[in-house]
Amino acid sequence: MAWDLIHKTGRAAVAPNLADYESECRAFSWEAAQRSSIRGLPGGRGLNIAYEAVDRHLDGARRDHVALRCVSKDDQVVELTYRDLHVVTNRFANVLRGLGVGKGERVFTLLGRMPELYVTVLGTLKNLSVLSPLFSAFGPEPIRERLRLGDGRVLVTTPELYQRKIAAIRESLLGLKHVLVTGGGPAPEGTLLLSGLMAGTSEEFEIPPTDPEDMALLHFTSGTTGKPKGAVHVHRAVVAHHLTALYALDLRPSDVFWCTADPGWVTGMSYGVIAPLSLGLTLVVDAGEFDARRWYRMLQNQGVTAWYTAPTALRMLMRSGDELPREYDLSRLRFIASVGEPLNPEVAVWGLHALGLPVHDNWWQTETGAIMISNYASMDIKPGSMGRPLPGIEAALLERGEDGRARVVDGRVHVIEEPDVEGELALRPGWPSMFRGYLGEPERYAKAFAGGWYLSGDIARRDRDGYFWFVARADDVIKSAGHLIGPFEVESVLMEHPAVAEAGVIGRPDPVAGELVKAFVTLNPGYEPAEALRRELIAFGRRRLGAVAPRELAFDQNLPHTRSGKVMRRLLKARELGLPEGDISTLERPAQ
Ligand code: ATP
Ligand code: MG
Repeated sequence: MAWDLIHKTGRAAVAPNLADYESECRAFSWEAAQRSSIRGLPGGRGLNIAYEAVDRHLDGARRDHVALRCVSKDDQVVELTYRDLHVVTNRFANVLRGLGVGKGERVFTLLGRMPELYVTVLGTLKNLSVLSPLFSAFGPEPIRERLRLGDGRVLVTTPELYQRKIAAIRESLLGLKHVLVTGGGPAPEGTLLLSGLMAGTSEEFEIPPTDPEDMALLHFTSGTTGKPKGAVHVHRAVVAHHLTALYALDLRPSDVFWCTADPGWVTGMSYGVIAPLSLGLTLVVDAGEFDARRWYRMLQNQGVTAWYTAPTALRMLMRSGDELPREYDLSRLRFIASVGEPLNPEVAVWGLHALGLPVHDNWWQTETGAIMISNYASMDIKPGSMGRPLPGIEAALLERGEDGRARVVDGRVHVIEEPDVEGELALRPGWPSMFRGYLGEPERYAKAFAGGWYLSGDIARRDRDGYFWFVARADDVIKSAGHLIGPFEVESVLMEHPAVAEAGVIGRPDPVAGELVKAFVTLNPGYEPAEALRRELIAFGRRRLGAVAPRELAFDQNLPHTRSGKVMRRLLKARELGLPEGDISTLERPAQ
């Protein structure tokens, strides 16, 4: 099925049409953009993320604007103005200084989405220590592994999480000097009460001179394809966070913005903390879990104007029906964006029918630190496409070799110029939020570059209009009877059948075809697994996809997802083949 263009809906953040956009991109320079958008520390003392997110708003009316509006699981709301945030982050920076925690030392968080998490992040950056966020639902093993890899000096957590997940592994964490816990006390043995330490410190803190290249964040990847990697980011990244939020998410200081990603993942940090605060807007934080009614209620009650979420969440909302959103007043909402996984065209278009707004897909990675390719507000959306590279971003497709990755000959690669040819998606290094290394893995980092390009590991194609289309992760490509098949295309077609809510597609080894395409599908409410339906879905796939259609299909109401919301195809495959499950530290599980 050919999906129609969705004509632009947003305010023109960048140039209003593609021709203007081309020249805008050509004229773009990060240096000039930085000068016009970023303040820098007073007195030319460098560039610090926390200064841009908090302190820059203190002169003038913004200081009394609500920066954070935190909604607890039981709908209690706590608000902090920029001035409040300034004071508490100063106090936290003083706490670290008082404990002797210095520049470059790692501070980990293991916290739900509560105010203390945001205070810790920003206070740590003020002190020039490095922040590494852990997702609070991790079990003890993934926590231990990351604390060890990242050489964690301080951990900020809750007394409950400490007792359940840390107490038993504490002794094995030799480098971990201080554990600070939230709440009013008492603090478990071996921990310090954060509120007590905060109360005893000054409200004043002068951010030390910060080299833009100083390390700021350590982010572990989602672990979709294997063991999570620790990507290192620096303070200069804020330039890209700020500008991409303007271009790709169309954010303005007047917005009420909700990013549903947890700050344990890069999206929840770049766009769930840093970028929105650097713009001086009101950031909504929800401590609750996904629930269709709760989410619509959040959008309505918080008066959300711009919303950044993920395909799995949108697919679940879609599953809950088109009638539900009509029970809520979503009239303030003006912009919806999605990231993390391919956005099936079906879902982009569903937004338009059910919510009155299309969903703007965009593409990036933990390694890129910020949005690189996007269907941004001022351009027509092609449903199913990731969009076009942002100004300042040069993206290309590289010819691939036998192993499915870019072919490198004598250190050189071949850039595909023709449209509609698949290749490995690559980016020209040099944007401010580019990762500066995989912690402790220099060879792996070196291998991510060739011929002057950063190699993303994703396969894509570009059409005649310059829009990029995601095909597959290089490791997920299925080779069947001479065809190269991206699972996403097959999954998207299956999702067009009314019975299918979500699908995961893998290649199963086959002596004749090499690999056979096998689909696992989750059914919508009102449908039951049955042989007749299975056959119908296979026939539906064959009619639409021909040779690349799934030959086998199984029902699965619990497709494995990463905690950042991606279908874990490698796990589906390992289970199918009876192989070891590999690293599943980031597998989403019922609450632990
Ligand atoms: P790991 O690298 O550990 O396997 P991961 O790649 O899933 O995990 P992230 O950095 O969180 O970790 O995710 C980035 C990846 O997510 C991209 O490389 C791409 O495969 C996928 N992705 C992100 N956004 C999109 C999108 N809009 N369309 C398609 N795929 C996307
Ligand atoms: Mg990756």
